[in-house]
Amino acid sequence: MAQQSADVIIIGGGITGTSAAYQLALQGHSVILLEKGYIAAGGTGRTGGIIRQHYSNETTASMALRALKVWSDFDNVVGGDPGFRRYGALFAVGKSDLDGLKSNIALQQRVGINVQFLDPDGIREVAPYLNVDDLGGGAYEPDAGCADGAMAANAFAKRARELGATVLQGVEVTDVIAENGRVTGVNTTQGVFSAAVVVNAAGPWGTRIAKTVGYEVPVDASRHQIAVFQQPPDTLADGHPVVADFAQGFYFRPETGRLTLAGSIEASEAAHHVDPDHYVETVDMEFNADMAERTEHRVPLMGDARVGKGWAGLYDVSLDWHPILGRMPGLDGFICAFGWSGSGFKMGPVTGELIADLVTGEQRCPIDPHIFRFERFAEGALVRGQYNYSIIG
Ligand SMILES: Cc1cc2nc3c(=O)[nH]c(=O)nc-3n(C[C@H](O)[C@H](O)[C@H](O)COP(=O)(O)OP(=O)(O)OC[C@H]3O[C@@H](n4cnc5c(N)ncnc54)[C@H](O)[C@@H]3O)c2cc1C
Repeated sequence: MAQQSADVIIIGGGITGTSAAYQLALQGHSVILLEKGYIAAGGTGRTGGIIRQHYSNETTASMALRALKVWSDFDNVVGGDPGFRRYGALFAVGKSDLDGLKSNIALQQRVGINVQFLDPDGIREVAPYLNVDDLGGGAYEPDAGCADGAMAANAFAKRARELGATVLQGVEVTDVIAENGRVTGVNTTQGVFSAAVVVNAAGPWGTRIAKTVGYEVPVDASRHQIAVFQQPPDTLADGHPVVADFAQGFYFRPETGRLTLAGSIEASEAAHHVDPDHYVETVDMEFNADMAERTEHRVPLMGDARVGKGWAGLYDVSLDWHPILGRMPGLDGFICAFGWSGSGFKMGPVTGELIADLVTGEQRCPIDPHIFRFERFAEGALVRGQYNYSIIG
């Protein structure tokens, strides 16, 4: 006998699941969100939290633009504080990559993103402490920033609850139940929950959930590290923007407390496959040293930075570094929404809207997620951007 039932069950309490729960509850649907650990226990609680719009295909760029509007005005739009801070973001390339960068800027401007090209002198005007010797230029987004994964997911979960959703932590879904070509609910460690629609928003665990009803989704869990540096005293007094340094294949971003966080943007990151329940959650010494060297090259003032306590988290990397976001073919009521491949935090507010549209069949969000359908893998219609196969998208 079913323990509880609702219109929709959402598996996973990361940014994707909590945002979807909020949207569905807002639209008057009954929702149960089931989280095996706690809200933001997965990639969301370990995110780098960068909110940028620098994407090289129209769908993702439009999603990022729409999401930024929510992040920048979260308390009025959703309610609560996701810890958003506007720092600006610079995407800097070497001289050989200038043409690609400029065509991406043109695409972003076409969809309405506030971004401008800066030559090396322009970069120095924004951030005089940057070494621009090996840079050809950069794309600068003054409106970009960072938010806090745990604060954001908890803010969405809280609003979802206030709007009537049931949010349960410590309940693990063991499998999805299907009868006669449609889902009827899920089995969990706390009994059966029933619903005509089940949303798999389990991030790096999403592949396992999909497998329980026969789908082989090409998404692997991989480990991603973030190094933390304490800025030397009396330097960078006004902070620094988020910098994606394509010339060196890494990014760094400011954090409160005069900290700088750094991570890799190299596609080889995807090769670090791990069991999502058993992986090393701390940072390797070699990684800290590597990030310190790259940071010092770009910001010589950081040469005297002290190494702080970093962490590692999980990416859910798909075959083409883009998510699976759609109704699954052959099983009515089963929606997959995972595989954001290391870039899904910023998209959370819009992913939630798109999931609500997939559930209801309405199109309240003006963005069409068709390119993210699961069928694309069999069709050979992989999603491609200018920056093939990396988190940049
Ligand atoms: C180190 C790091 C840095 C990143 N930096 C950025 C960045 O700067 N900007 C950006 O936009 N993105 C970034 N990302 C990516 C971003 O954080 C993720 O794409 C996003 O948070 C994924 O959210 P999610 O809700 O889809 O999945 P998750 O946050 O992984 O949530 C999935 C949830 O499902 C739960 N779950 C799993 N299995 C079950 C089950 N069987 N039953 C019930 N619950 C279950 C898990 O406990 C988990 O809480 C980064 C990720 C990492 C790890």
